[in-house]
Amino acid sequence: MAIINNRLTTAQYEANFADIHPPYESITAAKVDAHRCLFCYDAPCTKSCPTSIDVPKFIKQITTENIKGSAHTIFSSNIMGAGCSQVCPVEKLCEGACVYNLLEEKAIPIAKLQRYSTEKAMENNWQLFKRKPSVGRRVAIVGAGPAGLSCAHTLSKEGIDVTIYEKESKGGGLMTYGIAAYKVTPRFCEEEVDYILSIGGIEVKYNQELGKTISLAELKRNFDAVYLGMGVGVARQLDIPGEKLEGVVDAIQFIYDIRTKGYPSVSVGDKVAVIGMGMTAIDAATQAKRLGAQEVTMIYRRTREEMSCTQHELDIAMLDGCEVIWLAAPKKVKGSNGKVKQLVCSIMKLGEPDASGRRAPVDTGETFSLDVDMVIKAAGQVPFEKLVKKYKLDNKNGKLVIDKNCATNIKGVFAGGDAVNGGKEVVDAVQAGKDGAKAILSYIRVK
Ligand SMILES: Cc1cc2nc3c(=O)[nH]c(=O)nc-3n(C[C@H](O)[C@H](O)[C@H](O)COP(=O)(O)OP(=O)(O)OC[C@H]3O[C@@H](n4cnc5c(N)ncnc54)[C@H](O)[C@@H]3O)c2cc1C
Repeated sequence: MAIINNRLTTAQYEANFADIHPPYESITAAKVDAHRCLFCYDAPCTKSCPTSIDVPKFIKQITTENIKGSAHTIFSSNIMGAGCSQVCPVEKLCEGACVYNLLEEKAIPIAKLQRYSTEKAMENNWQLFKRKPSVGRRVAIVGAGPAGLSCAHTLSKEGIDVTIYEKESKGGGLMTYGIAAYKVTPRFCEEEVDYILSIGGIEVKYNQELGKTISLAELKRNFDAVYLGMGVGVARQLDIPGEKLEGVVDAIQFIYDIRTKGYPSVSVGDKVAVIGMGMTAIDAATQAKRLGAQEVTMIYRRTREEMSCTQHELDIAMLDGCEVIWLAAPKKVKGSNGKVKQLVCSIMKLGEPDASGRRAPVDTGETFSLDVDMVIKAAGQVPFEKLVKKYKLDNKNGKLVIDKNCATNIKGVFAGGDAVNGGKEVVDAVQAGKDGAKAILSYIRVK
């Protein structure tokens, strides 16, 4: 067993990481699906979208070949509507709410239609929003992820001069650095960021980190308001013996490397265990398999009923040949010569519901062992607790606490996205950015 890179040919890497949901090839194909829409009154698809995109309207616009209008409808509610059409778990949002499901017919492919209009807008660089002349107010945003970008775009439309401070060298946040490459490519993410910034009035200062190269006091002094959209941090530790052995890796770092270094450069084991059953775990497991791992086993301490990924995501992992061991929790990583050799797991059973409302896993005292050479930790992310405590920002175990106006306990400092909710989806962060911008506009009395 070994952890090695460059396991596949270029053609195999390309095939394994190709777009999982290919787009429409013609307007005719898009119109055929658009014509199936029932244009429901009080549309459940719109209600289930955190950004409230007027789905029937944009679909209707496709039927009349008004693609520019359709893109405008989408972007008015969600400036990352192009990215969301590729990464949103639509089976539990708009498409899951489509009335066709009740009729036991195929739901309207809303995401695919949304992708059609928004990609046309990006390809043709249609400028659908005009920034108002500068009103002479300045807002600083920390983080160029979905929350920060959506906040920036909303503010810029109103003539606010925005400066984003981003610690990485590219924008997009976890869209660019976290989400699986077969859902959305790093190149598309760059294009999406450029498209959002093309409204003007937004300067992004890359390689600038709050707490290191810039301080909150400095931002407060130099700007009329500050928005914190820095997401959540590194993967949760397992706190088990052997966690420091070579071959135990953090899922976020593993995916970050896939997205920044290129597939052949990323090493993967022959036999990989992935701890967790959320979106990150699925992305880590499927991508490990697609990089050429022979066996990938996902370890989850509860059952299918309690998993946080959707059935659709689990299906992707299963179709890729990943296995799942339910009711198992990592207990110890065993090694030899400093390298991972085995993962020892406790066998669990379900007890009473815990604070999350889900039945809690209880250790039965029995164990089993798996021969593995790589363990990927994907048991959740930990907020930037040290950073928020340093600035005396109210928080719950590092998650920022805000009031109904998106305001933190520090005057003029607002927050949203994963940094507040602890980790949801891109579409939630986009809405949080819009809400934050609205609150800031009211605070600086621009509206
Ligand atoms: C592996 C993985 C897979 C996912 N898959 C999906 C999916 O398929 N679909 C989906 O909808 N959602 C998915 N998500 C969740 C989604 O990516 C997030 O909910 C969303 O990106 C949150 O946006 P955000 O702007 O709040 O934070 P982020 O996207 O994390 O952006 C925060 C930005 O702030 C920057 N930053 C952090 N600290 C500082 C600092 N101190 N100074 C300056 N800048 C800083 C970061 O570099 C980053 O650019 C996934 C998440 C992960 C981890």
